[in-house]
Amino acid sequence: MTNVRLSVVVPCFNEEASVERLHRRVRDALDALPDVDVEVVYVDDGSEDDTLPALRRLAAADPSVCYLSLSRNFGKEAAMLAGLRRATGDAVVIMDADLQHPPRLLPEMLALYRQGFDQVIARRDRRGDRFVRTLASRSFYRAINWWIDVRLLDGEGDFRLLSRLAVDAILAMPEYNRFSKGLFSWIGFRTVVVAHHNEARQAGRSRWTFGKLFNYAFDGLLSFNNRPLRLAIYGGLFLTLIAVAYMAWVVADAVEKGIDVPGYTTIIVSVIGLGGIQMMLLGVIGEYIGRIYYETKRRPHYLVRETERLVTEAGDER
Ligand code: UDP
Ligand code: MG
Repeated sequence: MTNVRLSVVVPCFNEEASVERLHRRVRDALDALPDVDVEVVYVDDGSEDDTLPALRRLAAADPSVCYLSLSRNFGKEAAMLAGLRRATGDAVVIMDADLQHPPRLLPEMLALYRQGFDQVIARRDRRGDRFVRTLASRSFYRAINWWIDVRLLDGEGDFRLLSRLAVDAILAMPEYNRFSKGLFSWIGFRTVVVAHHNEARQAGRSRWTFGKLFNYAFDGLLSFNNRPLRLAIYGGLFLTLIAVAYMAWVVADAVEKGIDVPGYTTIIVSVIGLGGIQMMLLGVIGEYIGRIYYETKRRPHYLVRETERLVTEAGDER
């Protein structure tokens, strides 16, 4: 059997306390395996702490480590994209730096890849999560599966192994607004799920505030189809029908009883109500136009200031 070349991609944002420990765990999990050549790609997503020096040290000590340092914080989606582009393996695992994605699953994931699966998803339960957070996530996934065209499951995050076929499919999608949970699900291929228990973050802080989660949910709802626009059309149609029926009634009433002037309340209510609905629909349309605007700029998803081979002048020499 020829060796499998495995790339492990790790986006890191302010993870100075975790990267070294993570690296040791990854090595421990993989060194024991025969027939695997490992490459670990760390992406420093504009960290403000000593993540970058830690990565430099790792790369100096271990030739299988490469790293990219982005010019500022571009967000996890961009960092993952950078890592996926850089990864050269036949199979690529994406995992978080904070040890919430246990490296001990790697051998099992690799075995499933060898059985011919193109996506091996590590699915976590919600053990130890706060109740509100669990409830919010559950409702989000229920709503989103009803809403969008791809299927998402609670607990299925970015921790997964992708075959070269799947990685190339992901990289072929150039969109600027990347909702990767949706992208992973959209590409399909032979997929299998490995369950594991929820792990608490080992060090540092999660970037997710409630507001950010809300925006993320909103992104997911908007980025996988145009159903909000469709709903707007149906809503408008419904209101028009009501207005026509009401008009017919008003005219009939006026013909029967002669003209009178009441109806002030009706006018105010309909002006305010329709105004509100129109603003909301404009907002929906605006969201889509905003997305088109960002997509048409065709800006790069991220900029690199340093890799283990290249230190640009902008790279800080701490
Ligand atoms: N991350 C990143 N860029 C960011 C935010 C996070 O690369 O702007 C990385 C972070 O270092 C970690 C992973 O993405 O490895 C997941 O982040 P976090 O633990 O904050 O998210 P959670 O586990 O709470 O979903
Ligand atoms: Mg985390």
